[in-house]
Amino acid sequence: MNLHEHQSKYRFGEFGIPIPRGKVATTPQAAYEIARELGGKVVVKAQVLVGGRGKAGGVKLAQNADEARTHAENILGMTIKGLTVRKVLIDPASPPIHEIYLGITNDRAAGEPVMMASSEGGVEIEEVARTNPNAIIREHINPFLGLHQYQTQNIASGINLPREHWRAFTQIARNLYRCYMDSDASLAEINPLAITESNELIALDGKMVLDDNALYRHQDLAEMRDTDAEPIAETQAREAGLTYIQLDGQIGCMVNGAGLAMTTMDMTKLYGGDEVGPANFLDIGGGASAEQVATALRIILSDSNVKSVLFNIFGGITRCDEVAKGVIEAYHDVSPQVPMVIRLQGTNAKEGRDLINQANIPDLVSAATLTEAAQKAVEAAKGAL
Ligand code: GDP
Ligand code: MN
Repeated sequence: MNLHEHQSKYRFGEFGIPIPRGKVATTPQAAYEIARELGGKVVVKAQVLVGGRGKAGGVKLAQNADEARTHAENILGMTIKGLTVRKVLIDPASPPIHEIYLGITNDRAAGEPVMMASSEGGVEIEEVARTNPNAIIREHINPFLGLHQYQTQNIASGINLPREHWRAFTQIARNLYRCYMDSDASLAEINPLAITESNELIALDGKMVLDDNALYRHQDLAEMRDTDAEPIAETQAREAGLTYIQLDGQIGCMVNGAGLAMTTMDMTKLYGGDEVGPANFLDIGGGASAEQVATALRIILSDSNVKSVLFNIFGGITRCDEVAKGVIEAYHDVSPQVPMVIRLQGTNAKEGRDLINQANIPDLVSAATLTEAAQKAVEAAKGAL
């Protein structure tokens, strides 16, 4: 789950990281009132879950409350990278003299969190990694030992931070690490961590990604979820207990088990390439009911890019005949307008295939192997089956 900038910064604030004392508005009038209350110059910032808002015109400096209202009028309703802006954050302006990047994420290869910093803050870190990889300083953090002072000093000197800021920087780095661990985050990022005209360090932008599997431990954070900001299909899937992530391809995949789902995506991409490839990741889990299969099919088909559907079921605890019943029921219930390919393997596979054959659905063909299934799904998506 991604947190909005204002939510991330609020969380940072709870851990003692200096943040601007701004507020969120959903109307131009509310933006005006917040700006008047803050007094002086403010920044009006689009709250959407993507980076690069500044470049897209979603971050604007206002000289006074009237200008803040005008900016809010323009930014609210604007589309940034496909997302509609419904909220703006009004922060007191603190023009940065220098912008630093500071973030923590999990380094899977190292099996530890890693703190990253760069003196080239403000721009997206992926871009720095591409254009100037040496500008990124990394320190791995052993979770049993925590973040050592020598490490924050390594970072501070590595990014050429003037000595006078080292104390404040160390505090911020430690607090960011505590915030990251305490929130069960997979990313906590300050970009920019600004040095202001009054020579203070302050987190002007924040981003957090939380581990969905740990949200049950953080009721307060779980409630921050903004369902307006995610694809409707992902919300529906979560409510039905399905794991669903929308992708760019044309083959809707329905699979039981995460590993099998990954393999299925690889295979469809192998035969279909980037364009045809997988339209989604979907794990219906073990022992899915006919009703869940129908819900999953509805979700897959709600994506207008989907040109064919591939069911790939490996029966273990899940019985293939149950899934076949579910697919047939779902077919009559949802009446999909696209061809479908089904591969059943494992427990009661033969019974399942017999059911599929007896159902005599012209748009539903069987495949014996995953290779054959993936090839057929690609052909079907291209309209050649
Ligand atoms: P992003 O483009 O989505 O990463 O949004 P940011 O919050 O990082 O804003 C983009 C840029 O606006 C920052 O990198 C700053 O260079 C610039 N900026 C200038 N003045 C201010 C200010 O007072 N507050 C903030 N937040 N940003 C400012
Ligand atoms: Mn930023």
